[in-house]
Amino acid sequence: MKAATALINLDALTHNIHKIRAIVTSAQVWAMVKANGYGHGMLPVAKHISPLVDGFGVARLDEAMKLREAGERNAILLLEGFYNPSDLPILVESDLQTAIHTFEQIEAIEQANLIVPLRVWLKIDTGMHRIGIRPEQVDEAIKRLTQCKNVEKPLNFMSHFGCADELDNPITQSQLSTFETLTKAHPSGLKTIAASSGCFYWPQSYFDVVRPGIALYGISPAEYRNGQSHDLLPVMTMTSSLIAVRDGKKGEPVGYGAKWVAEKDTKLGVVAIGYGDGYPRTAPNGTPVLINGRIVPIVGRVSMDMLTVDLGSDAIDKVGDEVILWGEDLPVEEVARHVGTIGYELVTNITSRVELIYSDKK
Ligand SMILES: *Cc1c(COP(=O)(O)O)cnc(C)c1O
Repeated sequence: MKAATALINLDALTHNIHKIRAIVTSAQVWAMVKANGYGHGMLPVAKHISPLVDGFGVARLDEAMKLREAGERNAILLLEGFYNPSDLPILVESDLQTAIHTFEQIEAIEQANLIVPLRVWLKIDTGMHRIGIRPEQVDEAIKRLTQCKNVEKPLNFMSHFGCADELDNPITQSQLSTFETLTKAHPSGLKTIAASSGCFYWPQSYFDVVRPGIALYGISPAEYRNGQSHDLLPVMTMTSSLIAVRDGKKGEPVGYGAKWVAEKDTKLGVVAIGYGDGYPRTAPNGTPVLINGRIVPIVGRVSMDMLTVDLGSDAIDKVGDEVILWGEDLPVEEVARHVGTIGYELVTNITSRVELIYSDKK
């Protein structure tokens, strides 16, 4: 009988990449594998998809180094660039590409003494206002980077959408126009703006490179949809086991804080997964769990190592039966809606205690 185990279906990953490629046609596909491959295990994921993609994106130098140490030869982009000037020689040595989004980074590149120039992507703030060079400062940034001997020419350009999952939000069109206007005079550099939402909802956003993350893993980038509606297959199925089936008597509370009380006699199932595995403690009563082909509700608080479900008075489920928390037949997006978060957070939050098992079942 297994405790919390994430089954990772590598064939689903392949399927999803083919789907994305079919949509974006000639654009390069760079796979986002930051945060341990959105919880799916960065190295096995990268190894499996490396022949299918044109590059990788990560958020931290440490993630990029792990990929290189594992023998990864594909292009790797640091999405927020380097954090310390002392990282620059490492970027050169490990052949890493970097986003540039601040004048501090530009200054650091200008001051560095590098044996070969770096491939850089100037990140422009086209309207999300998180990171990026502001539009009125882009000309100056381009000028300085173009004159810098440590920067490979041509310069490449990137930006990021803030609301691309909202199909009628005019911000996205405005971000696109700003990006086009600011980069028009530099046709030889590569351009990229689309993450998963861009791939599905904004065909004008493909440019040279798309940067899907969540869609690779079969999860919808939009809160109100499931990956299935984009013809994606869930890659992760989070499973565990029933470690007890108990009588619950009418009027008895269950779990910490006595947050749920049985309205009638029933059978309660105890599942070996909790917030120590990354299952959210905030999951309320009624959050769906799949056992023996049917949905049953979580009752009472999720604790560190266990959670409790109401199996119903007629239940014939037994100790040792498999439990599915999300994945195949129970979309993580649906669980996320109950919890008040997004699928991204649930899969990314699984902890090191959870065993990841890889398969290429069709
Ligand atoms: C994480 C990330 C992506 C991928 O976003 P998804 O919504 O998961 O597709 C793309 N670009 C940047 C800069 C990112 O940080």
